[in-house]
Amino acid sequence: MKYDQLQNFVGGSFTKIASDRTIPVISPVDGTLLTEMPCSTAADLDLAVQAAKKAFPAWSRTPVKERVQVFFRYKFLLEQNLETLAGMISAENGKTYAEAVQEVEKCIELTEFATSLPQLITGEVLEVSSGVECRTAHVPIGVVASVVPFNFPAMVPNWTIPNALTLGNCMIMKPSEKVPLSVGLLATLLKEAGLPDGVFNIVNGDSEIVNAICDHPDIEAVSFVGSTKVAKVVYRRATQNLKRCLALGGAKNHLLVLPDAKPDMTAQNIAASMSGCAGQRCMAASAMVGVGDVDHIVARLCEEAKKIVPGKNLGAVINKDAKIRIEQYITEAEKNGARILVDGRGAAVPGKENGTYVGPTIIDYVTPDMSVAKEEIFGPVISILRTSTVDEALDIENASPYGNAASVFTQNGSMARYVAERASAGMIGVNVGVPVPREPFSFGGWNESKFGVGDITGKSAIEFWTKLKKSTTKWNPEEGVNWMS
Ligand code: NAD
Repeated sequence: MKYDQLQNFVGGSFTKIASDRTIPVISPVDGTLLTEMPCSTAADLDLAVQAAKKAFPAWSRTPVKERVQVFFRYKFLLEQNLETLAGMISAENGKTYAEAVQEVEKCIELTEFATSLPQLITGEVLEVSSGVECRTAHVPIGVVASVVPFNFPAMVPNWTIPNALTLGNCMIMKPSEKVPLSVGLLATLLKEAGLPDGVFNIVNGDSEIVNAICDHPDIEAVSFVGSTKVAKVVYRRATQNLKRCLALGGAKNHLLVLPDAKPDMTAQNIAASMSGCAGQRCMAASAMVGVGDVDHIVARLCEEAKKIVPGKNLGAVINKDAKIRIEQYITEAEKNGARILVDGRGAAVPGKENGTYVGPTIIDYVTPDMSVAKEEIFGPVISILRTSTVDEALDIENASPYGNAASVFTQNGSMARYVAERASAGMIGVNVGVPVPREPFSFGGWNESKFGVGDITGKSAIEFWTKLKKSTTKWNPEEGVNWMS
């Protein structure tokens, strides 16, 4: 399917931009051209910021119990449009339709959380001395920006849209240039849900727009999700310009497997974690650290991996560059002495020869110095490292500069706790392959997987998207007033 040329969404309408630079949006599923994305300039961004600034006074003064009504309707519209949105996500990102449906379901859950915000942002009040009262209120920040990656075209935007907007802010969204279509559909649904014009705006573009966002004097806060390399650039630039910033980066998630782990459950969880969304999840299992004799579990993992078939229950990776990069990692590991137990190189799907597929890949006897052990591969590949003690395994996990997620598989509660307490990661799994905390819990890693304070979703989002106003009031009449005299 070919979509119309992409437009920005400014002040409640889709608007054409005059750009001499466009980026083709190609479906990883079969290589078809979906649309052309014109690259906005700083002047286009400014138009959107001015629209958001214009909308902010009325939206921020609208009581939160009224603002939230838009998101009750938006949740309903997401449900109604689930199939269309899932189809679009799958086409532009390459994940399977089933995974795209799960992504839309997650958007719905994120919106559900936002509809509970009026219950969660009640302020505090206390009479601190006779006649003197202190109270707090969560106040919107103003015009904010959200910069998002390619791997969840609708879910990551919805990490920020429902919360930031219900809390009274106006937003500029910068979609990934690789998957800019789904966000446009979200804008249509928000408008249909009754969101006032200018509260949500989309500016399409690439790094030029991200830099302009970090520099724009009227943008108060920047939320970023993407690779660590870019997260560092954005965090430095936005905070240099005195903006609030939360920048989530990449990951290298370790799964520690102890010999007493249940083989079937462990193998199934790891296979699903490494291959879900073709391994293009910041929560994907990337390194399995086997402690002691785990050969029986590795054998079961290989059996599970062989059930994962490109084009059926395994989607495509985002583009040709990604396929080449992932396959190079595998080849390099092989050259350096690792054993390829399941090889996904050269995968092709009949009828979709221009799709970009990599099959599930299991690399055993990886050593900590190999690049497959250290770097984020972002493909359906797992590296297996071997240790003889849990402490050695923890040393490998904790040597990683990242710290998004870490899991342990064992039937021993004490060992599970030992690992959970010592692993240097923001999200811990015990017998869980993808330990995403579900709402109302917050999502966010540690170390170089996140820069800034707090987390991006759940209750933690309240602190990021609001300012706390502290009011002290004194009403201390000496005596009662007789209004009749
Ligand atoms: P990316 O960093 O290449 O791009 C993210 C966004 O930054 C895009 O909108 C892009 O246009 C923009 N961008 C790219 N280069 C830039 C530059 N030099 N300067 C300014 N802006 C720039 O990330 P991606 O490839 O789209 O997404 C994959 C990455 O995102 C992986 O590393 C993955 O782990 C990470 N990710 C992290 C989380 C998390 O929660 N920590 C969630 C999803 C994805």
